[in-house]
Amino acid sequence: MEETIFMKIIKREIPAEIVYEDELTLAFLDIAPNNPGHTLVVPKKATQNVFDVDSATWAAVLETVRKIAPAVRDGAGATGVNIQSNHGVDAGQEVFHLHIHIIPRFTKKEFQFWPKIEYGPGEASAVADKIRANIST
Ligand code: 5GP
Repeated sequence: MEETIFMKIIKREIPAEIVYEDELTLAFLDIAPNNPGHTLVVPKKATQNVFDVDSATWAAVLETVRKIAPAVRDGAGATGVNIQSNHGVDAGQEVFHLHIHIIPRFTKKEFQFWPKIEYGPGEASAVADKIRANIST
């Protein structure tokens, strides 16, 4: 598998504005931010997304998100953050190294939530049944 741009950042082969690092994770500014201070948290271990991540790596990434989110908010002078993550081409994932976006938000007006749809009769229970049947513990 070809090395991703994020692995090159982890290995310090290309530059990035790194804001936090520990044994298992790295956090750096997104090169094309949605807002100033937009930060990406990645595991150092090569992992594509939620579909192949092991539980220790996932826990480490989420813990780093928890740890640095207040600093991203306050460092950017924001009042809140969106924590977002895209998994798979159709979900908008462009870089296939697991990452979580922390995006500072400044005013409610500036933020647009995704459009909402309504379930038809029986549709919610049908999809919920299929999800339950696919869960493996
Ligand atoms: P995705 O769409 O996969 O969830 O998000 C990938 C993100 O990586 C994008 O927001 C994009 O701006 C960011 N990105 C892509 N290439 C680079 C890079 O070379 N350096 C940094 N710092 N961010 C990158």
